[in-house]
Amino acid sequence: MSNLTQNPATLFLVATPIGNLGDISSRALETLKSVDLIAAEDTRHSRRLLQHFVINTRLIACHEHNEEQQTPAMIECLLKGQSIALISDAGTPLVSDPGYRLVQAAIEQNIRVVPVPGPCAAIVALSASGLPTDRFVFEGFPPARQGARLNYLQALQLEQRTLVFYVSCHRITATLEDMVSVFGGGRQAVLARELTKTFETIHKAALSELKQWVETDENQRKGEIVVLVEGAPEQGDDKQQLLNKLLPVLVDELPVKQAAKIASKVTGLHKNDLYRLALGLKQENK
Ligand code: SAM
Repeated sequence: MSNLTQNPATLFLVATPIGNLGDISSRALETLKSVDLIAAEDTRHSRRLLQHFVINTRLIACHEHNEEQQTPAMIECLLKGQSIALISDAGTPLVSDPGYRLVQAAIEQNIRVVPVPGPCAAIVALSASGLPTDRFVFEGFPPARQGARLNYLQALQLEQRTLVFYVSCHRITATLEDMVSVFGGGRQAVLARELTKTFETIHKAALSELKQWVETDENQRKGEIVVLVEGAPEQGDDKQQLLNKLLPVLVDELPVKQAAKIASKVTGLHKNDLYRLALGLKQENK
């Protein structure tokens, strides 16, 4: 492995499977076998993965609660020339998982940081969702408390990119309910559950139908879940739709100048453009 032999003082960020062990890459295995240390979110959990692949590299814990204390010690190891692989319980480290402080500190110390890419539930779900993938926003976990969650969803109401959320199975019904009340029941949404595992389910429907489906089938409230929601319609389209309805009515009732002025106030579109449109409509009506 050239990265390791050329430059041993390296922090590797190694993605591991999100369910199906067959998804581990040969480069991930090679890295995990060759490094001096593996820093894992949950050592007991990761030991099972390493035992499966007969990897005996020393394991240390690096999780949410000790990352701050562990970081200086790991940086010291790296500065001494040791190599470390950071892994999380599943998927890509740092994506809704620990590691940010460590990577930041390594970069500050000019330590080489090498990603070894692999599965990430958000990307796996997005790719199979049937929702637009050209622009998307990864939102991680919505707040657990309903008040905070509603405020947070409201701030996303006009977001036009596809929205990707991680949702705990304990909060899936409440979260879908809040999504319906904030985004409206008509938006397309996808529930991607237990990806790459035996009960993998990828179900696309309007938000209100998705909510109902999850409420009536308790199996859909089990396991690990990604929820994706279609982005808001383009503002321009909304304005155009409103204008198409409004302007003919105004032109019927009012002089062209006044019709254009009111339509501009309601839609926010430019008054001069609307004057020309209103004039055209008036002439058609004669
Ligand atoms: N770092 C991980 C990644 O790259 O996806 C995510 C870790 S985050 C703590 C765990 C959340 O990811 C789960 O609650 C779920 O929302 C999502 N997730 C992980 N594995 C999944 C799977 N197999 N199917 C669906 N969602 C999954």
